[in-house]
Amino acid sequence: MTDIKAMLPEELEAALKELGQPKYRAGQIFDWLNRGVQSFDEMSNLPKALREQLSERYYINSLTCLRKQVSQEDGTIKYLWQLRDGNAVETVVMRYKYGNTVCISSQVGCRQGCAFCASTIGGLVRSLEPSEMLDEVLYSQMESGLPIGHIVLMGIGEPLDNFDNVMRFLQLVNHPKGMNIGMRHISLSTCGLIEKFDKLADYHLQLTLSVSLHAPDDETRSRIMPANRGRGVEALVDACQRYYEKTGRRISFEYAMIDGVNDTPYHAKLLAKHARRVCAHVNLIPLNHVEESPFAPSKPENLKAFMKILQDAGVNATVRRKLGGDIDASCGQLRKKLAMK
Ligand code: SAH
Repeated sequence: MTDIKAMLPEELEAALKELGQPKYRAGQIFDWLNRGVQSFDEMSNLPKALREQLSERYYINSLTCLRKQVSQEDGTIKYLWQLRDGNAVETVVMRYKYGNTVCISSQVGCRQGCAFCASTIGGLVRSLEPSEMLDEVLYSQMESGLPIGHIVLMGIGEPLDNFDNVMRFLQLVNHPKGMNIGMRHISLSTCGLIEKFDKLADYHLQLTLSVSLHAPDDETRSRIMPANRGRGVEALVDACQRYYEKTGRRISFEYAMIDGVNDTPYHAKLLAKHARRVCAHVNLIPLNHVEESPFAPSKPENLKAFMKILQDAGVNATVRRKLGGDIDASCGQLRKKLAMK
């Protein structure tokens, strides 16, 4: 059985041609899939014989909502979706002035091992399929009734560790005949798998690349982010520069402020140097609470002093507003879960 939701309209056309069907059927099917139908029988404008043929060859992926939490503070919604194989991942819908944004997971668990992040506890189970990521967006929109205009790949998992599936997902969700979400409304966040940066740049996508930097020197970064070991900050900033030159898209540096770990003036000055070199925007994130983690958020006065050093150096920096604090829906707090639990 083939996953029909992973297919682009032109691939559907070719498959339908083999079944002796006209081209326009592909458009009809793609349209139904992007409206979230769960069976071929719901595709009421297709002949019954074709619906039967399709159901013998293809399956339609879907998600089941295991839990929905709504923040009392700001209306942020956190979903726990069950996948076909019983695994489950979390997805968050945030309501910003400029539109509704969905934060999706790209893997069940994560193998990157960042010391401050809940998503990596228990390691990687598997990568998500393109249709599963599409369904995170589609089902979040259908279930919440909120039209989704923006996507951030900032949930569980490392998108560049699931490169091919993420690229196909982007093609699907960006397709004018599908959800049609513009690349400029999509951000992809990575812990810095630099060997994939050049490959990504070759696609010339208009999306925003967010790099989870979190420390500007190898000693600190390798301590809290194993992905830095054997790669290094210099090589990462080099890769960012190549990416920026190739795509013309400004990179954003994510920086979780951790008390006594990465929040001294020394760190701020070095961060400013890197950011200026590649014209990056810096997003400071007060560290979010993770029960298993020994780290605490930076003190407000240190955050302020840090910000001032960046601004004085001419760096474009903002402090990220925290949403969904009462439902553990913030950066680094999403977890893979087993449906049975
Ligand atoms: N693997 C990708 C995608 C995850 S995005 C990446 O590393 O970028 C999730 C973002 O939240 C990353 O920037 C991550 O470093 C950050 N994060 C993880 N734990 C956090 C925490 N406890 N507080 C604040 N940010 C955190």
